[in-house]
Parts: sequence; C-alpha cells; structure tokens
Amino acid sequence: MDFNDRYSMTIDGKSMSSQGTLPAYNPATRSVIAQVPDATQENLNQAVDAARKAFRAWSGTTPAERARAVNAIADVIEKNADAFMALLTREQGKPHAGAEWEVLGSVYWLREIAKQSLPAEVIQDSDDRRVITQFTPLGVVGAIVPWNFPILLAVWKIAPALMAGNTIIVKPSPFTPLCTLKLGEACKEVLPAGVFNVVSGGDELGKWMTTHEGIDKIAFTGHTETGKAVMRSAAGTLKRITLELGGNDPAIVLADVDAKAIAPMLFWAAFQNNAQFCNATKRLYVHENVYDEVLRELVAFSKTQKVGDGAEAGTALGPIQNLPQYEKVAEYFDDCEKNGYRFALGGKIDRNAKGWFVPVTLVDNPPENSRIVAEEPFGPILPILKWKDEADVIRRANDTIYGLGASVWGKDLAAVQRIGERLDAGTVWLNEIHQYAPGQAFGGHKQSGIGCENSLHGLMEYTNWRTITLNKKVEFGRGSVTRAA
Ligand code: NAD
Repeated sequence: MDFNDRYSMTIDGKSMSSQGTLPAYNPATRSVIAQVPDATQENLNQAVDAARKAFRAWSGTTPAERARAVNAIADVIEKNADAFMALLTREQGKPHAGAEWEVLGSVYWLREIAKQSLPAEVIQDSDDRRVITQFTPLGVVGAIVPWNFPILLAVWKIAPALMAGNTIIVKPSPFTPLCTLKLGEACKEVLPAGVFNVVSGGDELGKWMTTHEGIDKIAFTGHTETGKAVMRSAAGTLKRITLELGGNDPAIVLADVDAKAIAPMLFWAAFQNNAQFCNATKRLYVHENVYDEVLRELVAFSKTQKVGDGAEAGTALGPIQNLPQYEKVAEYFDDCEKNGYRFALGGKIDRNAKGWFVPVTLVDNPPENSRIVAEEPFGPILPILKWKDEADVIRRANDTIYGLGASVWGKDLAAVQRIGERLDAGTVWLNEIHQYAPGQAFGGHKQSGIGCENSLHGLMEYTNWRTITLNKKVEFGRGSVTRAA
C-alpha cells in the first residue's frame, strides 16, 4: 500500500478522481497537505449503483465469508498501522498515543465484530407449526463520519454493516478524509468490487446520501443539529437511521476522593483527544468539601501536560482539528471572559500560534446556566462546579438535552452506584471512564442519538426482521387462513 500524497475515492473496486478537489490541512501547522476529490452527484450515483450491484452476491454470503472479509480489512490496517498512525496525526492532530489507540483499536474492533452473527430465532417449532425470525440485510448503507475519530468511527459502521450482509458507502468528514480514502484504496485488493466504497466531499455530499433512493440506511455520527437534518431528509425515503450525536457528559466527584490521586483521571476524562470527544467530561461536579483541593491538583497536573504538534515527542494534547471548530471554541473563551468567570488555568488563546492550538482551560464554578456549562464546546475548556446535596447534583447532571455518557467517582461504592443509576445517559462509568467494547452497546439517550452501535443490538440495526411461519399440517381448502398464536 502506497501512502503517498495522492488520494482517490474507491468506487466499484476502482480508484476514482472527481472534477473538483478539496484541500486537507495539518491542524498543527495550518498548511495544506493534500487535495482530495470533491465528489459530484454523478460520483455518488456511481457508488450507489456499484454497491447495489455488489449487494446481490454479498447478501448471499455466509457469516464465515463475511468474517473473512472483515478480518482482511483488519489485516490491511494492521499491516500499514504505522503509516495510518502517522497520517492520522497529520490530518487529525492527535498525538501518537491517541493515534495508536485509534488505529490498533480499529483492528481489534473489526476482528471482534467479525465474530458476531445473528442466527435465525426459532419462535415455535411444534408438530404442526414452525415460526422463525431471520435477520436479513437492509441493502446499501451510507456511513457519515465526523472528524474526531475518523478511522474508528468508520470501522464501527463498516464492520457491522458488512457482517450483516450489507454493502457500504463511507463518507469521511471533509476535515479528515485522508485515512479513510487510503483505507478504501487498500481494501480494493481484499474485498469484492462495490462492497466497500469511499466517497469524499463536503456536507452537501452527506445531504445527497440522506435523500438518495438507492441508499437504505444512514449510519451517522456527528452534531445533534446535523443529526436532526439527517433524520428529516432520510424521512423522504423512510431510511433506517442510527444517529450517534453530541453530548454534555457530567462527572460527579464525591467528598471522599483523594484529590491528588484522582486529578490525572479527571484530567483525561475531560481532555482525551484534546476534548474533541463526544464522551469527554464536559461538566465536572465536585463536592464542596474537596472542591478547592481537587481544583488545585487538577491545575497542577494540567500544567505537566504539553499542548503542541502531535508529531513531536512529549505532546499530550494536539491542536483543534479545524478552523471553524477553533473559532467556535474561541467563542467560549470570549463568553467566559465577557461574563467575568474566573479561569483557574489558561483562558487566553494565542492567535499567532503556528497551529490551531488552545491552552487547557479550567473555569472556576461558573453559573449553571452559562454557555460553558449548558453547551458542548468540544474543545479543552472545562467548567468545574460545586455541589453539596446529592439529589440536587443528580438533577443538575440530568438537566440537559443530552444523554450520551456520565461518570461518578468516589470511594463509597454504594453511593457511586446509587448516583450512577439515576443518571440519564447511554453509558454511565463508575470510577472509570471511556471503557468501550465491541460487545457493549453504545448510544445516546434524549438528543444524543437514536439507536446504538456495537454489540448484537448494534448489529441488529443493520438488518430487517423477516418472520417466516410454516403450517406443517395444512389441509388446503379447509378452515380459516387466520389463527391466533
Ligand atoms: P458534523 O455534524 O458537523 O459532521 C459530521 C458529518 O456529517 C460530516 O461527515 C459532515 O460532512 C456531514 N454532514 C454535515 N451536514 C450534513 C447534512 N446536512 N446531511 C448529511 N451529512 C452532513 O459533526 P463534526 O463536527 O464532524 O463532529 C463533532 C460532533 O460529533 C460533536 O457534536 C460530537 O459530540 C459528535 N460525536 C458524537 C459521537 C457519538 O458516538 N455519539 C462520536 C463522535 C462525535
């Protein structure tokens, strides 16, 4: 596999360019590092035709054949892991450790999802009747992916879509198309033509996918507002949808914690992937008895973590991935400053920095209705809030349109469990965070999403049910054709 700076789409097993191109940037230097195809509607039609044609044979493959193909994708990534990691750091900005977690995690995910299958359920098998429910593929899946974990979140869609017998068209974010385009090219050699297609382009391309008559399901990860637009336009053809959307995850810290010991864990809960993480802790509620101590330790630990170019050794946090997001994060800094909230650390963005760098910033107890608490900044600025009453902090934690993740931290395990069970979120972590697994359902409550990824529940979302009933003792011409079960 050639990791040169030429990028093509993969459609019907062939490399394809387009009439126009889009630039891809390195966020650590703000420089253009490649041009990628900007797909036209005609390109999308070609991908849909190829995927529909390939579906005829692919939908008839056995689980073992599909598993071989999904494992082959894992092998391709593993074989080129170093090149994928370096490219991921260049296009996304994340330091090597994060790139390694994402790339090797993708290999692991593909191999684990390849073990999943949905055999037919036997509902009844008596002397006179047999009833089974089969899980049949939907057809062509359109996968629309964001820029924070471009490879892993594509894999979370590719693996189950193919294992369920669908073919797929993946559209990476216009901000991080490079690894996905290379993955498509690399997989040409190991998959039948048309089974896995990659198209690159802007947001318009995403819109065309959501209305396309030849696409049966949209698997989408991105902003809540974009998810609503996807749902609206997918309604026109009644497409199946899975929506993995935004979050404003609370973390609740009890009074019995050891401030020094917990500070690094809370730091990474909030700032992993430079806080460009759907499940980043975005509101940190600390019991008033330990608030000052936890804040002090968090400031001290944060100062030991270097922000910089992910390609440089020793960098803990990279840049903001793209200019619009950088401007959006800067708005939260301005808003905090304008309203006189106290920065316990950071607070000033150096606009002249070489890349889109933002300092780790801790905001000391801003009001509950401030923008920094109520919204999802998706950047390294964290509000830390005081609490004293358990019922009240649970109410505050749940007082959001989002319900993606949450965490609770403390030595009193009964209290940790009791609080955790009252949090309205798709994943609640107790004394740990960001533990995901291929067998573990992941998704959001409320406006954080619809449906889930991973686990057999996630796999099922790539299927239709087909219930087949057989009357074993039919006497044609006699009696009623309807009967109760
Ligand atoms: P985004 O919504 O701007 O873009 C996501 C994708 O949708 C991109 O590929 C984009 O081109 C495409 N798109 C944009 N407009 C579209 C439209 N009208 N129709 C169809 N497609 C369209 O999101 P982003 O900025 O790339 O990602 C950040 C957001 O994603 C955050 O809110 C974050 O919380 C969320 N996120 C959620 C999860 C999760 O699993 N729940 C995971 C990662 C990120």
